[in-house]
This record gives sequence, C-alpha cells and structure tokens, in this order.
Amino acid sequence: MWRLILLGILLAIAYFVVKFVLRALRGQEKKIEKPVRPAGLPSEMIQDPICGVFVPKERAVCFQQDDHTLFFCSDTCRADYQKTINKG
Ligand SMILES: [Zn+2]
Repeated sequence: MWRLILLGILLAIAYFVVKFVLRALRGQEKKIEKPVRPAGLPSEMIQDPICGVFVPKERAVCFQQDDHTLFFCSDTCRADYQKTINKG
C-alpha cells in the first residue's frame, strides 16, 4: 500500500518537473526569438530634401538635375520637388 502512494508521489513530482522544464525551455525560446537584423554593412544613407526622411541610397528615387543627382524617398517626394522647380 505504501509503495503505491510513494509511486503516486514520485509520478506527481516527475510530472511537475517535466512541466517546469518544458515551461523553462519555452521561456528560453521566447528570449531567443528577438528580431535579428540581417547581417551586412549598412548602406549609405541619404536625406530626402522634401520630407527629410533618411533612406538607403540604393532604395532612393533618383532625379537628375543639371550636373548633380538628387535622391528622394519616393516618387511622391520627387514629384513634389519637380513641382517646386516648375513654380520657379
Ligand atoms: Zn520623402
């Protein structure tokens, strides 16, 4: 009779230990799951003269004006810039 009770207690302890370990492992996984930035050198950042936003140069919208190139964050900003030029 005592053996059965002892076995029951051991099973209960084992159950809680497993549950605790699983919870601990899940907690660690959550800690690891931080968003990791893709490796690589940061590209050159240029500032949009219209809205002031900084964008990577390769993603920027180019606009050739006379002998220099201007960079914008989007076609909208480039269009706005062209409007200001046309106004004079
Ligand atoms: Zn912009």
